[in-house]
Amino acid sequence: MTSIKISSDVFNKYHTNGKLRLSTGYVQEALEKQGYPGHDGVVQILKGKEDIGEQMGHGFTYRIRICDGIFQYNTLVSADIDDQIKREAEHLVEGAIIAITNLSTFSQGAGIKTSFLITGYTLLSRYHQTLSAPEVKPRSHSGNPAEHHGYRPNIVVEDVWPEAESITSEFQENMSNPPAAKMPKRESGGEASHNRVPAPEPHRSRAPPPPARRGPSNTERGVIPIAMVTPYVNNFRIHGMVSRKEDIKNIPAKNMKIFNFEITDSNGDTIRCTAFNETAESFHSTITENLSYYLSGGSVRQANKKFNNTGHDYEITLRNDSVVEAGGELLAAPKLNLKRVSLAEIAGHCGEMIDVLVIVEKMDAEATEFTSKAGKTLTKREMELIDESQALVRLTLWGDEAIKANVDDYHGKVIAFKGVIPREFNGGYSLGTGSGTRIIPVPEISGVSELYDWYTTEKPHSELKLISQTSGGMSEAPRTIAGLQEMQFGKDSDKGDYASVKAMITRINPNSALYKGCASEGCQKKVIESDGEYRCEKCNKSMNKFKWLYMMQFELSDETGQVYVTAFGDSAAKVVGKTAQEVGDLKDENLNEYNATFERLQFVPKMWRLRCKMETYNEEVRQKMTVFSVEEVNQDKYIENLKELIEQMKGIEDEGSY
Ligand SMILES: [Zn+2]
Repeated sequence: MTSIKISSDVFNKYHTNGKLRLSTGYVQEALEKQGYPGHDGVVQILKGKEDIGEQMGHGFTYRIRICDGIFQYNTLVSADIDDQIKREAEHLVEGAIIAITNLSTFSQGAGIKTSFLITGYTLLSRYHQTLSAPEVKPRSHSGNPAEHHGYRPNIVVEDVWPEAESITSEFQENMSNPPAAKMPKRESGGEASHNRVPAPEPHRSRAPPPPARRGPSNTERGVIPIAMVTPYVNNFRIHGMVSRKEDIKNIPAKNMKIFNFEITDSNGDTIRCTAFNETAESFHSTITENLSYYLSGGSVRQANKKFNNTGHDYEITLRNDSVVEAGGELLAAPKLNLKRVSLAEIAGHCGEMIDVLVIVEKMDAEATEFTSKAGKTLTKREMELIDESQALVRLTLWGDEAIKANVDDYHGKVIAFKGVIPREFNGGYSLGTGSGTRIIPVPEISGVSELYDWYTTEKPHSELKLISQTSGGMSEAPRTIAGLQEMQFGKDSDKGDYASVKAMITRINPNSALYKGCASEGCQKKVIESDGEYRCEKCNKSMNKFKWLYMMQFELSDETGQVYVTAFGDSAAKVVGKTAQEVGDLKDENLNEYNATFERLQFVPKMWRLRCKMETYNEEVRQKMTVFSVEEVNQDKYIENLKELIEQMKGIEDEGSY
């Protein structure tokens, strides 16, 4: 092995106060620029060269792992730097420090992270212990520039430059005249560290803690991980980066101001914080997104999961004695903490903020403008999402998000949507986006490559089930009445959940199937009869006519039990096979036929689609079931569905048999 000779030109170009200082944040910068960021980067090699030969038309020769003091990244070194490689390749070893003088990036395909290809470098030094600042542990970069966008850490990671010792001492002498600018002296290692040029093995001493970055010595005292914040922890103090800052919301009716932000610690845990009125204003003006803060004081309460998708069970309400101080620079690396819900399961989370990891199967080529009922001009863009659950769900982007979305960035790509809200319409489901939604294309998290695998290998042969608006929704496995009652089906959603059962009407009272309703268009209020007039309290009007309306209650039974359900409107008409007016006329003209009409509905098995919901009557919670639709039993389909159910149950048994 030959030793490296450093020319004074190289020294002058790359030294900082005579030392070798890593270009912290260089990996992020190169990812943002997708190539050489316009200046050389001093990085350390963590893993030495590994011959990989030629790959995919690129003449790489070596794979190394570099570290800029903050981020680590796997990097290829081009064989085109031939002469230099031949002379110096043996120096591309663990612990060496190089200056990247040219760099390009390329991607080997959708979903595969951007690769760096070094096409020019200067070897600066060998044999350094892995360098890092005491406050930051270098970590792997995901390759997604959006994750740390704009992050330019002011963190010093440096070491002595043994190969430049002779030049350093000259430099030191030159610098010794103005004492203020004296080169900082090593705190440990002393003189010995200067004599390690041809050292046979890596030196064990670590870089000195950079004095410039020391914060107030007591800042770490009493800091607890964000995950540990509960109402039972008194006087908590947390440290993290503000990962999300919202605008102040004004609620004029209540004369109230609200400010929400989220803070994420180095473990990747996030907590939502809320401040009101003056506190809202003062914190809104001091807090900057992507900067680090210590936060102490505040009331901890249960998180409202409708507005909070951090995954934390609690959130913090700031008080006027809460303290938020900037400091303790944290690696801007909040991991993407996805609480993923599969598309087939979104119905169980109606109205809640959830996260999904999906592939965009289809997307409108352009955003479309339309006028809302309130006369506002709105812009939207629809897309269809799929995932391994073989469900297909529609999602709508609004406003700027709809306009700026580029089809190439979405179509056929894995996208994480964080903070979307499943909505129900006519028994089908779609996903809504809002100000709290974050869209992360090709995120660097587990599950992405599995999803791509599924997309390329299994999806072409799978039958996707639309669970959006147009769904009639009889496709899921049927349930039983007792099952729905036992599991209190519908308890997870304010609006209720839908289920299908095969059952028959076993009791129905024709006398209470209809009522006389207000004749006004669109009004369904029951009228009060007096002196041949029909009075509607809602319309505050008396009329000489009324219309018949359905309000049926009947008993449904299957092999497992029975339940009273309610049907009205079009659903009831579908049950009876006649409109309310037709049946009402029968009641007046032919009571026998009227009664027979309801008689005939009994003991005929049908497929019922029920909406189940928990409701409170007199402080007692009861499950209410309403008929959404009814269909003839399609025996083939029913048997198919039962088979599916049996398979699912087998799965449960297998899991339970450990
Ligand atoms: Zn009315």
